[in-house]
Amino acid sequence: MKKACLLIVTWVGATAYGLSETGPGTAVLENARLKIVFEKQTSPVLRELVQKPAGTNVVSADGSPLFALRFATTNENPLVVDSRQATRGTAETCPDGDGQRVRLTFEGFPSAEGVRVALDGRLAADAPYVRWTIAVDNPGRLPLRTVCFPYVRAMPTLGDPSDDVLIGPAFPGVLIENPAKNWPVKRSVSWGFPGIQSVQFCAYQDRATGVYLASMDTEGYGRSLTVEKQKGAMLLYQEYRLPEEAAARWSGPYETALGGAAGAWQDTADIYKQWAVRQSWCAKTLAQRPDIPDYWKAGPCIHTCEMRTYGTNRHCSGSYYPVLANHLRSLRERIGGPVVPMLPGWENHRRWTAGEYFPIFDQERAKPVLAQLNSEGFRPFVYLSGLYYTYRNEGRDGGDVLGWEQYADSLVIASETGMPKTNVLNEMTLPGVGGVWRRHSYVFCPAAPGTKAFFRSVIDRLHTLGIDIVQMDQTVSGGGDVCYSTEHGHPPGPGLYQSQAFRALLADMRQYGKSLSPNFMLAHEELHEELIPYLDAFHSREHRERWWYRAVPGARGIPLFTYLYHEYAITYGGEGPHAGPSKSPTINRELAVNLVTGKTPAVSVWNNQKAMAKAHPDQIRMLRNHQGLLATEAKQYLMLGRMLHPLAFAAETVSLKIGKSPTPFIEQAVMTSSWQSPDGNVGHCFVNITDKPQRVSLSLDARGAAAWPKADIDLIRADPTTRDPLTRGAKLPHAYALELAPLEAAFIVLRPARK
Ligand SMILES: [Zn+2]
Repeated sequence: MKKACLLIVTWVGATAYGLSETGPGTAVLENARLKIVFEKQTSPVLRELVQKPAGTNVVSADGSPLFALRFATTNENPLVVDSRQATRGTAETCPDGDGQRVRLTFEGFPSAEGVRVALDGRLAADAPYVRWTIAVDNPGRLPLRTVCFPYVRAMPTLGDPSDDVLIGPAFPGVLIENPAKNWPVKRSVSWGFPGIQSVQFCAYQDRATGVYLASMDTEGYGRSLTVEKQKGAMLLYQEYRLPEEAAARWSGPYETALGGAAGAWQDTADIYKQWAVRQSWCAKTLAQRPDIPDYWKAGPCIHTCEMRTYGTNRHCSGSYYPVLANHLRSLRERIGGPVVPMLPGWENHRRWTAGEYFPIFDQERAKPVLAQLNSEGFRPFVYLSGLYYTYRNEGRDGGDVLGWEQYADSLVIASETGMPKTNVLNEMTLPGVGGVWRRHSYVFCPAAPGTKAFFRSVIDRLHTLGIDIVQMDQTVSGGGDVCYSTEHGHPPGPGLYQSQAFRALLADMRQYGKSLSPNFMLAHEELHEELIPYLDAFHSREHRERWWYRAVPGARGIPLFTYLYHEYAITYGGEGPHAGPSKSPTINRELAVNLVTGKTPAVSVWNNQKAMAKAHPDQIRMLRNHQGLLATEAKQYLMLGRMLHPLAFAAETVSLKIGKSPTPFIEQAVMTSSWQSPDGNVGHCFVNITDKPQRVSLSLDARGAAAWPKADIDLIRADPTTRDPLTRGAKLPHAYALELAPLEAAFIVLRPARK
């Protein structure tokens, strides 16, 4: 039988009083993993958030507001109203099944008349976080633009700051180390969707305690997660973006999570994954997806090699088609595995010129070459310049581009002008590097009537030429632009259509392409969990550090998306590390990252086509490692498996120069990862990225993924490929000293011992 509310605290102005089991004026949610305390002031304040069992309170010493509302004003500066400005409020907790509920209300905001906010949270018995909803009554229809909730002002450091980290959902994933030291006050980073946010959680934690914050949006609303270093605090919040038309009552369209975090970043990813794998984008694992071609599941090497050649002034000087087949045969031979050529500069006009793609560059010579490549198993791959339609190229190989007029009714409309929105891509307008290079484009609205027809026509014509692998490039945000058209069937302004119509467009392109050829494949530039079912592959830059979304001080890459979704989505190593003639420990590491994080191999030359023939032997060795392992049972793990927590072992470290920072980038000499295959076996991957032998003492186990009493263990070496039984019927953990030759890769497989 349900008990009546255990605790009711009502506060009215300064005369309030309260009752609770921990002290006057507090309301508490608590289970075996988490304790959250709300304190009476004039309205409820977040006082404690404690990760159990060992954690300490992470909330700032003076408490934390619970939300912030941003209203538009007549000037540039929004009016920000936080929960502490409420002059009245209530808090109520009560048992709910095996968990607890809390209801917090806030009203009497002097600067936001009539506004009333209600927060409802539920903490299940074993849950690591409280699931929240929020509603805002706004009877005066004040121009409420964003709602920041949950909102936590946390301690500036979590004990000793040296092991404090921020975990961020920046495409493949980012870890920001010691923000107390590495960030100045007021430094912040936001991960938004549509935008660079690939998954919906972030965390601030150390080994013992921390904060977990997540959106739980299954539809694709505009939203973001933000962390900001303030004076004396670390602020974290989740942000809802509201429709431009203010409503008298707004309810958050999805739940959010606020909880504790501790341990390694994988421990916190495990919290998120428990929710994520129950969502629609994880309905099928790769092993259950026959819609993704087998040749792609085999892990071909993506080789980015341009079809135009360039003169000294960077004008197009000729065609690479005549020698392309020989180039690819040589590469396939040297790396010992299949190659998929990605062909930049394939378009009719200058590279990245969108829309008027046909006839393709050097089409008459290209046709027989493309046919020949297909007959030899090289499947040509091109990028579409996303939703753009170029109308003019400025500078090198410039000029007007025709054709956009026929799609005028399908273009994104700008709010300011009521005319088609324009976009400028400025790739290389820098002094001394060849002068002006600007691309001027319009943008397709994915919801507009003619957009699908345009993309179908492109896929049709590519198919006729023998090109059945296509990437939606330059749509990194994972959605369409905000469009103010009143004739596209969507409400004008920002909205859910941006992501929903984009996904529908991808679905249509993919279904249409596969109706033409079972080998058709659709890829997407950069990672978004919502897009998993709509694609065959993601383009990722896992190997890149200190750049773009990993450029914030203290940041280094973590394979967060891979840890969450490797068994659901194939991700290739992007345009890939650049091949070059010089010995480069940094490029060796980049190639090793693609191997050890289960990416499809990748290497690029762009328009320096000769660089492949001259590539340093280390680079060929690393690509051979990758292809060598994919030719063995290791493929089941590295292409289709679930990533597990990695083995810990003592290893040398190496210092690399990456980016402009004078601080060396520190990497383990032996990189590692652990996996579970679709049939339940466990594997461990190792790559020696140094040019000397390495020996590591391992304690081999199943990483908690299996509970076999005894295991048979095999060692697979990559190049030349060998397989040796290490032991039979071993009790786990099994001690083993692995010796690796310079730049060698190996894979250790564990399976239950045969009786
Ligand atoms: Zn539109």
